[in-house]
Amino acid sequence: MNAERAEKTLVYGLGESGLAAVRVLLERGGSADAVLAADRLDNEGLREVARKLREASGVRTELGAGADVLEGVGRVIASPGVRPADEVLREAERRNIPVLSEVALGLEMLRNSGSEVRVSAVTGTNGKTTVADMTSRILRAAGLSHVVAGNSWKVLSGSLEEVREAGRLVLEVSSFQLHYLPEPGFEVAALLNVRPDHMNWHASFEEYVRDKLNIFSGQTEDSLALVSAKDPAGLEAAPDLLAETVVVGEGGTRVSEGWLLVGGERVVAVDELPFSEPHNLENALFAASAAMRLGAGAEAVREGLLGYRLKPHRMQPVRREVEDGVLWVDDSKATNPAAVAAALGSFADRPVVLLLGGSEKETDFAEVAPHLGGCRAVICYGEAGERLHRWLGEVGYAGEARLVAGLAAAVEAAREVARAGDVVLLSPGCASFDEFSGYTERGEVFARLAAGGATPGGAPG
Ligand code: ADP
Repeated sequence: MNAERAEKTLVYGLGESGLAAVRVLLERGGSADAVLAADRLDNEGLREVARKLREASGVRTELGAGADVLEGVGRVIASPGVRPADEVLREAERRNIPVLSEVALGLEMLRNSGSEVRVSAVTGTNGKTTVADMTSRILRAAGLSHVVAGNSWKVLSGSLEEVREAGRLVLEVSSFQLHYLPEPGFEVAALLNVRPDHMNWHASFEEYVRDKLNIFSGQTEDSLALVSAKDPAGLEAAPDLLAETVVVGEGGTRVSEGWLLVGGERVVAVDELPFSEPHNLENALFAASAAMRLGAGAEAVREGLLGYRLKPHRMQPVRREVEDGVLWVDDSKATNPAAVAAALGSFADRPVVLLLGGSEKETDFAEVAPHLGGCRAVICYGEAGERLHRWLGEVGYAGEARLVAGLAAAVEAAREVARAGDVVLLSPGCASFDEFSGYTERGEVFARLAAGGATPGGAPG
């Protein structure tokens, strides 16, 4: 019964998206025998997850899986945490076993159920969450039902019923998810930017770009493609795209004479908006273009953006100019150099004390260098601190460069050097795992340290 055995689907990676994939496979008529759930790791937490999964669903589980887990497997659903270089995935490729991301599975399920969901997808190194969030806000203002899913939002496979009912899906996709997403054919596909990041996951920058560009595959003349005038990868791809293509930042969709212009129409004055960073104005143009394509009018764009609040840890003021005239800003979500460059570009008119560091990804910080002129001081800390401190010397940074141990010491140092009118900016350009569970905890600790330093009378503590 070889044919039957080959029907088996391997769900590889037992995180949140893997578990949702198992559930949806079983709900859509798969028998427990036709699904195998595995993880390359084996630890206590996973053993507990696997035990619960077996009890609830009857599927077979395997931890510490190697290439032999592919025996009798007809396709693989890969978790975003697994690298393409992984032994099992490489072996699957060698044996021509199709590998799909959980998002691809969700989209396939939607298509197979015959539902006509309109999908607007967004990817990019930075700004995905913000653009998805702004798009949602505009659709809400327009009274258009929709679901936001993917990457940092809810797992798509776990939300299919809701998506079908809403009829519109705003999908955030990472390069991990795009790597295993054949011909998605999105009605709207937005590529915000492609900058070096996650180089420990991808084989090369070229592969990373290729994965990101996959967001446009399967589009037709009736679809809409959005790229940025500032992004070389998107600009280079644009002439070959089949879809109607809008270059955000050029022509009718850009910031012009103090207005956001979308499709040639003035939708909202920039100085009315609750945010002003150049990168967020660009994000707003992407979101407006996507939402209008899904049916929102200019009035809804205006209303949605006027009511928009940036999500925490993205250029979030955490301590205003109280006693000492210093503004403290938490941009903990900035985990790569491009996000740091964007953050510094937002404070072109104020001296910045920059906190840079965290866990080491060996990323090239070259694109931060042109923005260092506006920094009064750069405090390097954490695992990557020493390398960054050395790099400041190499690029001839003329301000004060300090090297300290961890975030708490960095905040202390910042307090010492900041003067009235300065911004103390945590835009670390690195992941946080050397000290914290993630960017959220790092940002919360920063905010607490910033506030805790408040000394009556404003004397630096
Ligand atoms: P993502 O979901 O892609 O990680 P976020 O919206 O969470 O993106 O923002 C991540 C970081 O990137 C934040 O520091 C934010 O200020 C910065 N950022 C947001 N949009 C852009 C953009 N268009 N270009 C550069 N940096 C951006």
